Amino acid sequence: NTQDIKILLLENVNQSGKDILTKQGYQVEALKSSLPEDQLIEKIRDVHVIGIRSKTKLNQKVLSEAKNLLVIGCFCIGTNQVDLEYAAQHGIAVFNSPFANSRSVAELVIAEIITLARQLGDRSNEMHKGTWNKVSHKCWEIRGKTLGIIGYGHIGSQLSVLAEAMGMSVIYYDVVSLMALGTSRQVPTLDSLLREADFVTLHVPELPETKNMISAAQLAQMKDGSYLINASRGTVVDIPALINAMRSGKIAGAALDVYPAEPRANGDYFNNSLNSWEEELRSLNNIILTPHIGGSTEEAQRAIGIEVGDALVRYINQGITLGSVNMPEINLRSLTLEEPDYARIIYVHQNVPGVLRKVNEILGNHNVDKQISDSRGNLAYLMADVSDVRTSDLKEIYDSLEALSSRVLTRVLY
Ligand code: NAD
Repeated sequence: NTQDIKILLLENVNQSGKDILTKQGYQVEALKSSLPEDQLIEKIRDVHVIGIRSKTKLNQKVLSEAKNLLVIGCFCIGTNQVDLEYAAQHGIAVFNSPFANSRSVAELVIAEIITLARQLGDRSNEMHKGTWNKVSHKCWEIRGKTLGIIGYGHIGSQLSVLAEAMGMSVIYYDVVSLMALGTSRQVPTLDSLLREADFVTLHVPELPETKNMISAAQLAQMKDGSYLINASRGTVVDIPALINAMRSGKIAGAALDVYPAEPRANGDYFNNSLNSWEEELRSLNNIILTPHIGGSTEEAQRAIGIEVGDALVRYINQGITLGSVNMPEINLRSLTLEEPDYARIIYVHQNVPGVLRKVNEILGNHNVDKQISDSRGNLAYLMADVSDVRTSDLKEIYDSLEALSSRVLTRVLY
């Protein structure tokens, strides 16, 4: 029953997400901030759903108290604040919103391309200090210049379209072969991209293979007087190597939105950090330094609220795990759910031999209309739509599934 579902939203989750959940008839309590651990434990015992952002730590200690918890919605990109493995082993699905801010990042990069080409940061800083310094030397239009995009995923591909609209030619490098948008062109190697591009921008994930992907050797391949933009992850660019390349004039400008070690809260980052290169970085000309704001817009927050809110509703009402970060992704059309004598059975279980045989013995007396199952590591997720079931049968099915030794979680939706 939807009215019985209790939801706790912390950290001022966007109104768009709250609205989606409230409209379903769930009981929603929304708080502006995160909670200290003892209060969090007190509250989490009672709820079926919790929505958080990056500050609420859902570790093993907290989750072990969450006896009724079905699902966690991270209304943000990252999920490091949640013990995903522990949650999975206890049948608690976790959702996030990895791509709702792609457009915001792409727009920031467009702004940075022009800002670097025209040395806007430096001119503005000079004016703030009272200096009028009108120059055109080494200031460029971006029309006709080549943008090299490394990583042609959600952000890289949107950027491609925006850059072409401003008259740039776009080339990209990616580990997989991807369809080119517009008149852009995939190049076969990183080196060929670096040799050809006037502006190089990074949009790859943080992986062992992308660590220091742009270092001294790659910077040396780049065109003289070219520009580098990194709004992906801080580990991707070797910052001391970039500093050298900018000092020598090889690189005419750079924009960094991400850093190898970022502080948890707003404050005096550069004066507190241990990095030896920070003073040098700050002293360079034509470098834009921003505090990981690529995806930080009102629109992205709203989109995150909608994406995670919808995922929670799908999971609560239909058991669909599409987009879950810690469970197998399962989807099944549910047209029949509205009809009488139909039920959807969800059985989350350990991924061990022989389970499906036992489950189907239990379901076998009824008409299994549709069934799907998948596994992820040592966890498996089975969904079956059965017809010809009466309410009394449901209790029996539930109890029998619960009694199996492989059981993690049983849900019966009807
Ligand atoms: P995505 O997964 O949609 O795309 C990443 C692309 O990189 C994929 O096409 C993948 O095939 C490619 N790739 C992976 N390894 C590669 C390699 N070694 N060489 C070349 N290509 C490789 O990701 P996305 O949503 O476009 O995000 C890209 C990056 O931007 C991520 O690191 C993400 O964390 C970061 N990001 C930053 C902000 C910000 O605020 N600055 C906001 C959102 C995302």
